[in-house]
Amino acid sequence: MEYDDNNVFAKILREEIPCNKIYENDSVLAFNDIAPAAPTHVLVIPKGKYTSFFDFMNRAGIQEVQQFFAGVSKVAAHVTATDFRLITNNGEVAGQTVHHFHVHILAGKLMGPLLP
Ligand code: AMP
Repeated sequence: MEYDDNNVFAKILREEIPCNKIYENDSVLAFNDIAPAAPTHVLVIPKGKYTSFFDFMNRAGIQEVQQFFAGVSKVAAHVTATDFRLITNNGEVAGQTVHHFHVHILAGKLMGPLLP
């Protein structure tokens, strides 16, 4: 899949549409999910153009990967105490709807097994 510059997260990165920003540095942007599935539901995205987790891991350099996950950890520590769920949906069958790589940080409620 080719990266689509008109996806909603690309527009957020270009500040063409607003977001509720939690954290930003040179590599990542974190903001609240518009349709939260938990009291805390934050999305973390790399600033580079990657469609999915696989695309990110296959094409990003090791430093970019390290910076991204360091950012995720920093955001998680900021928005939660210790307990949170970290999710990425890789591909539409898995539930991916926005084709700019992102992870979800969910916290603030008791979460059971991922699948019933
Ligand atoms: P996924 O289904 O894993 O691709 O996750 C995409 C997420 O983006 C969903 O949880 C949506 O609620 C969220 N989302 C879509 N548009 C926006 C937006 N404009 N601002 C914040 N979150 C959004």
